[in-house]
Amino acid sequence: MTKGKFPVEKFQSMQTPFYYYDTELLRQTLRTINEEAGKHEGFVVHYAVKANANPKLLRIIREAGLGADCVSGGEIEASIKAGFPANKIVYAGVGKSDWEINLGLDADIFCFNVESVPELEVINALAAEKGKIARVAFRLNPNVGAHTHANITTGLAENKFGIAMRDMEHVIDEAAKMKNVKFVGLHFHIGSQILDMGDFEALCNRVNELQEQLESRNIRVEHINVGGGLGIDYEHPNRVPIPDFKAYFDTYAKKLKLRPGQTLHFELGRAVVAQCGSLITRTLYIKEGAVKKFAIVDAGFTDLIRPALYQAYHKIENITSEEAIETYDVVGPICESTDVFCKQIDLNRTTRGDLLAIRSAGAYGEIMASQYNCRKLPLGYASDEL
Ligand SMILES: *Cc1c(COP(=O)(O)O)cnc(C)c1O
Repeated sequence: MTKGKFPVEKFQSMQTPFYYYDTELLRQTLRTINEEAGKHEGFVVHYAVKANANPKLLRIIREAGLGADCVSGGEIEASIKAGFPANKIVYAGVGKSDWEINLGLDADIFCFNVESVPELEVINALAAEKGKIARVAFRLNPNVGAHTHANITTGLAENKFGIAMRDMEHVIDEAAKMKNVKFVGLHFHIGSQILDMGDFEALCNRVNELQEQLESRNIRVEHINVGGGLGIDYEHPNRVPIPDFKAYFDTYAKKLKLRPGQTLHFELGRAVVAQCGSLITRTLYIKEGAVKKFAIVDAGFTDLIRPALYQAYHKIENITSEEAIETYDVVGPICESTDVFCKQIDLNRTTRGDLLAIRSAGAYGEIMASQYNCRKLPLGYASDEL
């Protein structure tokens, strides 16, 4: 069984559970993104901060030159603090409150991705109070399904996100009447953990149709933003540590008909940070149940909620044992039946004190941690600081 490389000696003396981020892998991933996106004229990549806002990671991502995609005022603050230039910050979200909009206006962010006419009216009014003109893109709901978990599709007509396509022209007309907003782009985001390039192709086809529809009315936008959603290989973090960015960007280059001078923006979250992170947890007890064996660990769904929330799979490795393989349910200490990381998985024989690495946990892990059961929030360490 091949395992990830971890500084196990150092881990032994550290308080568990904690997140461990392989910053060398993160940097390599960012180099691949820049290399593959850089092959195509006008491609601009933003990092979706909601995947992981750990300041050490944000700084590395900013240094690689990516922009920031935010979905709250708090994320705008975190991005500015990490040094992202305001003109590389985009801000989306169905429920932007006034203080968040004002924050974006004061910072002069690149673009508000607007999801409804009432929101547009509020942005226009708040911008007017400041004597500013807000740059806005409309987030359209393209009604394109992504073949992924139902809880993480966002681009279907039934989802709460975006403006229905049939309302697009109406919304653009409304914006044209407003003095303090400038309509500059179209925004889309169809879901997450997408591995079938056909889903992105379907989005490209929809964008092409919409662009033609707008051009028939002499409307030309500065930029198209296709969101994020590229998935990663949760089964094989060692074999496939870097997602197939080439296939991803090439799909857009081939299928989306960009107009001269137009830029194409991406908002990748999971694909950037998921594989570089692991949740390190210590085995507390091995309990021989009536029909199976439980490895009870000191991390719970308060530290990593994806398995409980989305039935997500994370590979688990015992990084301190080389003994023969046995089968376990790996469970946490929280008083909920859903506090299970994985059922019936093979691990090297595990005993009290062994360290387990729950892999591919860099995205939607640390940032979704909670204090339920009055637990402490997990800390996050970058490999280059240990
Ligand atoms: C969540 C989100 C993203 C990032 O999604 P990933 O699947 O992590 O790439 C991008 N854009 C918007 C608007 C989002 O809500």
